[in-house]
Amino acid sequence: MQTRKLDARKRIALVAHDNKKSDLIEWATYNKAVLSKHRLYATGTTGSLLENALDLSITKFFSGPLGGDQQVGAKIAEGKIDVLIFFWDTMEAQPHDPDVKALLRVAVTYNIPVACDRATADFLLTSPLMHEDYEAILPDYSLYTKRKI
Ligand code: PGA
Repeated sequence: MQTRKLDARKRIALVAHDNKKSDLIEWATYNKAVLSKHRLYATGTTGSLLENALDLSITKFFSGPLGGDQQVGAKIAEGKIDVLIFFWDTMEAQPHDPDVKALLRVAVTYNIPVACDRATADFLLTSPLMHEDYEAILPDYSLYTKRKI
């Protein structure tokens, strides 16, 4: 059985669509003490706003519509992001909707914790597992990597 270890100090990626940015900033400000115990990553605009609001250092990717969602997805695939907090706007089509779908798909593919709304983000952040080492079980993808033409 393959697993992926998520350390006690998690690498958390934060992403919010424009209509959800104020929600995420409010949520992150309320949870600043907990978030400051982890390493934070974000798409470009979300990251700049969070840095200003929290006064914490955040590793920023490109803006979401310019490839930032794909960069976060790539880091998840590489095992370099442990948790995804993604406040997405369900009421408005995004120019990068395919990237949004791809990001969520890759997060589930690698069985990392994902919160797409504020309630789930609350549950996630208050889980004792956020502060412990955790072994995430990976599905057996060997059939997909050994497929012959
Ligand atoms: P942004 O990207 O943080 O650069 O606005 C978020 C997104 O829309 O994916």
